[in-house]
Amino acid sequence: MLRRSFLRNIVASSAGGLLLRAQAAGVSVTPLRDKLYLLTGAGGNIIIQEGPDGLLMVDSGLSNSTADILAQTDKIGKGNVTTLFNTHWHTDHTGSNVILGQKGAKIIAQENVKTRLAKGQYMAFFKRQVDPMDPAGLPSETFKDKGKIKFGNETAPYQWLPPAHTDGDAVIHFHNANVFHGGDLLFNGMYPFIDYGSAGSLAGMAANAEKILKMVEDSTIIIPGHGPVAKKSDVKEYADMLAASLDVFHKQIAAGKTLEQMQADRPLKAYDDKWGQGMLKPEVWIALNYGGMKKS
Ligand SMILES: [Zn+2]
Repeated sequence: MLRRSFLRNIVASSAGGLLLRAQAAGVSVTPLRDKLYLLTGAGGNIIIQEGPDGLLMVDSGLSNSTADILAQTDKIGKGNVTTLFNTHWHTDHTGSNVILGQKGAKIIAQENVKTRLAKGQYMAFFKRQVDPMDPAGLPSETFKDKGKIKFGNETAPYQWLPPAHTDGDAVIHFHNANVFHGGDLLFNGMYPFIDYGSAGSLAGMAANAEKILKMVEDSTIIIPGHGPVAKKSDVKEYADMLAASLDVFHKQIAAGKTLEQMQADRPLKAYDDKWGQGMLKPEVWIALNYGGMKKS
């Protein structure tokens, strides 16, 4: 009974909420710096870079937003997406892969992204089956640790970070423009979803947030997977919240607390006002990590 209400909460506040917002508000474009643009309202945050022969895209949104995304990219430069980079496999970041692949885009992602997309996935926390992706949308170029994209006059190194949100998380840094996309390793201003079923963990999220802090500067424009554009100080606050959460879960689980006790005690209440108003409400953040950490 309790569990069912959590699931309802999650569905209402995360995937469903995003979907509704995307449909209601539509996809919008915000210029960032140089020839880089942010697309929001299509699921995960998308970056577009305009090059001399086409567009580079980071993440491809939800599949039901593809038409809206393409309507926006058509207005930028030559319009056609020639290269797509996926930060991880989740469907709100890979939803336009198939269409873009069919149109000839090169798709780059970490090798675990391709494996999970090709196989199809069951997301136990959402009780959601994700079918194998049509081969046209699968990454055509994979990497294990790192690489770089040269596009126009921009060089964008990318790098896999150890399992955290999933086991295929990569970040990409447009060096000249100093714009950084952290994928779903970063949720700005809300508790992040962690995909324990894809080898994710809170410990990994906390460790990677610290790593990202070393990759960015005060002047870096930081694009989270979800939430508004961030500054380094936002990432610092986020890293501190993750570290505090990790500590609380370790201690409460070691002390034998039940999930219901933790949810009643609200041991993270100092953080809930700021971080618990987004996709994951405080009781869902507790349920997610309690379930994930108890198993491991
Ligand atoms: Zn994700």
